[in-house]
Amino acid sequence: MTAPAADAVTAIEEGLAALGTRYRDAFAGAADEQALRDAQAAVLGKKKGELTRVMALMRDVPKEARPEVGAKVNTFKQGVQEAFQSRLQEMAREARNADLNASPFDLSLPGRLELGRGHLHPVHQTRDDLLTIFRDLGFEVVAGPEVETEANNFTKLAFPPDHPATDMQDTFWVDVLESGDDPRSVRDGKVLLRTHTSNTQIRVMSQRTPPMAVVSAGAVYRRDDDLTHSPMFHQIEGFLVDENVSLAHLKGVLTSFAEALYGPGTPVRLRPSYFPFVEPGAEVDIGCVFCSESDGSRSSCKVCKTTGWVEVLGCGMIHPEVLTHCGIDSEKYTGYAFGFGVERIAMLRYGIPSIKLLFENDPRFIEQF
Ligand SMILES: [Zn+2]
Repeated sequence: MTAPAADAVTAIEEGLAALGTRYRDAFAGAADEQALRDAQAAVLGKKKGELTRVMALMRDVPKEARPEVGAKVNTFKQGVQEAFQSRLQEMAREARNADLNASPFDLSLPGRLELGRGHLHPVHQTRDDLLTIFRDLGFEVVAGPEVETEANNFTKLAFPPDHPATDMQDTFWVDVLESGDDPRSVRDGKVLLRTHTSNTQIRVMSQRTPPMAVVSAGAVYRRDDDLTHSPMFHQIEGFLVDENVSLAHLKGVLTSFAEALYGPGTPVRLRPSYFPFVEPGAEVDIGCVFCSESDGSRSSCKVCKTTGWVEVLGCGMIHPEVLTHCGIDSEKYTGYAFGFGVERIAMLRYGIPSIKLLFENDPRFIEQF
């Protein structure tokens, strides 16, 4: 019974040879990677591959001949794998060459969209410049929250309960929900969007003991909306508490501030005014820098309406009641406070006619700074 065995070996060898010719043709002719993978599966596929059919003849091969035949089959399989990998790499090379040769692509061409470099908003530029002036004068910069209690925003600042600023017309009140509350049921919390940065003054004075010199800057909210008022604007507030602080110290600091902002010799004047949290209180005017001529005369000026003075900020000596509310001994300590709108300074600085321009974010405007 050697004849069938010899036949089986021959049949396998012939089968491998025929299969070899076919897979080489199929690999060479494969148009893309998927076709190549299909051709490989047709040869080596576990269930339907043609090699499986050739291997079925193995059962007729005598035991002693099997290792040799098996080795041939393995060599064949290895040959298929190598041919497959090499054709795959060839395809990748062809694709890359096709890419490089197709539609010429000039990397040196300029982009279609020109993107300018960004910069800080003029309000923030002004805020940073102002804070730098006060830092240089020895004030510490402290941040405070924009959502505040009525007590820190009004009551402790000695606003009388009937003060118009506390009225619904001026203040944005905030509905406070306890976690887990039905959003439709509102707790009777007296919380608001701060109407000034003075809440930071209250917070700092309630937590520290004098001496202290602090400035605070940030967004504040009021129900105002016209050419010079916006419902949201930015304030800077500063205060100093120590023993023997007087109005003269306040005027000294404000004069240094005006000179740092508008140059040496800038005149400053205080006009008596009323704010609930200071006593005495004053409005501060700075000599108009837009219209003064070298001979001392003034040209017609829209900024100061040719009065020569521009109102810049409010200030005063901190009311003893405010100190007491914050746990500071008002017999021993005195202090001054001042506050102003950052937008107003920016408008004066750059000659901006309407506060709206600062919040419309029109690039044609913003790019000018
Ligand atoms: Zn002027």
